[in-house]
Amino acid sequence: MPNSQFETTLQTLRNNFDSGVTRSIEWRRRRLQQLDRLLQENAAALEAALKSDLGKCAVEAKLTETAFLRSEIAHALRHLKCWMRPRRLGMPLSLQPASGILQAEPLGVVLIIAPWNYPIQLLFSPLASALAAGNTAILKPSEVATHCSALIAELVPKYFKPDEVAVVEGGVAETTALLALPYDHIFYTGNGQVARVILQAAAAHLTPVTLELGGKCPAWVDESADLAVTAQRLVWAKFLNAGQTCVAPDHVLASRGTLDKLKPLLIAAIREQFGEAPSDSAAYGRIINAKHFDRLVGLLSDATIISGGKHDAQQRYIAPTLVEGIAQSHPLMQEEIFGPILPLIEVKGLDAAIASIRAYGKPLAVYAFTRDATVRKTLAERTASGALVFNMAVGHLGAAEVPFGGVGESGMGASHGWAGFQTFSHLRPVVDKSFWPDTLKLIMPPYGRTVERV
Ligand code: NAD
Repeated sequence: MPNSQFETTLQTLRNNFDSGVTRSIEWRRRRLQQLDRLLQENAAALEAALKSDLGKCAVEAKLTETAFLRSEIAHALRHLKCWMRPRRLGMPLSLQPASGILQAEPLGVVLIIAPWNYPIQLLFSPLASALAAGNTAILKPSEVATHCSALIAELVPKYFKPDEVAVVEGGVAETTALLALPYDHIFYTGNGQVARVILQAAAAHLTPVTLELGGKCPAWVDESADLAVTAQRLVWAKFLNAGQTCVAPDHVLASRGTLDKLKPLLIAAIREQFGEAPSDSAAYGRIINAKHFDRLVGLLSDATIISGGKHDAQQRYIAPTLVEGIAQSHPLMQEEIFGPILPLIEVKGLDAAIASIRAYGKPLAVYAFTRDATVRKTLAERTASGALVFNMAVGHLGAAEVPFGGVGESGMGASHGWAGFQTFSHLRPVVDKSFWPDTLKLIMPPYGRTVERV
């Protein structure tokens, strides 16, 4: 698409927004229902595209993308009226009689740029919030998830008019051209390097930006935890989507004694969830492309593999892999792993674990598997992250009422449910003062004795 076409697309969406039709609750409801219909009527095609791009099985596709989105949309439909309701603001005595309300206003035309790892969820979840808030949108799916991108570009125009939601496919060139235009909000999900490009482009138009980024989410485990349950939950969260999840536990931090007990339980949990040969398991996904496959296999060099490690370039398969004896300086600990490799890192105790967590800045989530109330309090007070989750990992994304987002290097702003609605709204105060009685006269010059008493 030439750049002038992008301008036309944007103008079409803006004209529709400016007409005011998107403000009504009926418009918002109908568009949310359309998105739901798109997901329902094309579930099989969407799941097939996810299978082609990521080897994702149908159950996982439903759990983390199609059904996940439908429940987000149902939540938005249930709460929309309440979210849109103006909230009363208190007025001080000095301004009385007067009233104030906080009114959620739609922003306008928003640009949503998604990554490849959950290519449908991470495009349509912000879209649901944007529509609920009464905006029109341009969607830029990730070119890396080729099948999903093509299918989204085919389906969206069947369910939305060009002045409601538009799709622009493409990579760096197309995104760069899109970013040159002025939007009312940009919602970007992806890596921190590109986030800097997005922020710079947004600065030219003073466009507000939400950044959903990544990082190294640690999982602290101590002996007060139920280690068998912990192992099952860690294995599920880490190897879901073959480890290509922004909030996957990146590595485990534990004392030697805990690791010795946890290791066989993790190995058993991998066998239970994916069988003796995970390459034959329908539940186990594949690496998105050769570039990421090579990066991950490269990360395994010089690592002590205690389980897994098998890989097959042709199939883009890397077995669920546990490694240990990894120094802080090892490449595995220098970047977000974003694949099915789980380092088990020995630390002396909680203080050392906290020092390690803090060394990586503020991740999307800090996980802790513990029953110890002091440990929980200490982690809450001495670490910072998008979310703090006890005795579970990744699952918190399934609750529409839990705001999802990062802080610092892991991002800014939040999505899902009410938080997503607010992201795509401006909370505009509307204040109304009556002409009579004219109490403001009391604070106007010439200042008399009344004001001096104040
Ligand atoms: P990606 O390569 O698909 O890129 C994301 C988007 O940025 C794509 O739409 C792509 O076209 C665009 N893009 C790439 N280069 C660009 C450039 N130079 N200029 C403008 N746009 C450009 O995905 P990715 O970045 O590899 O995604 C993985 C990262 O995303 C990981 O760090 C992961 O943790 C993070 N992530 C975060 C979340 C979250 O919700 N916080 C969710 C998923 C992934």
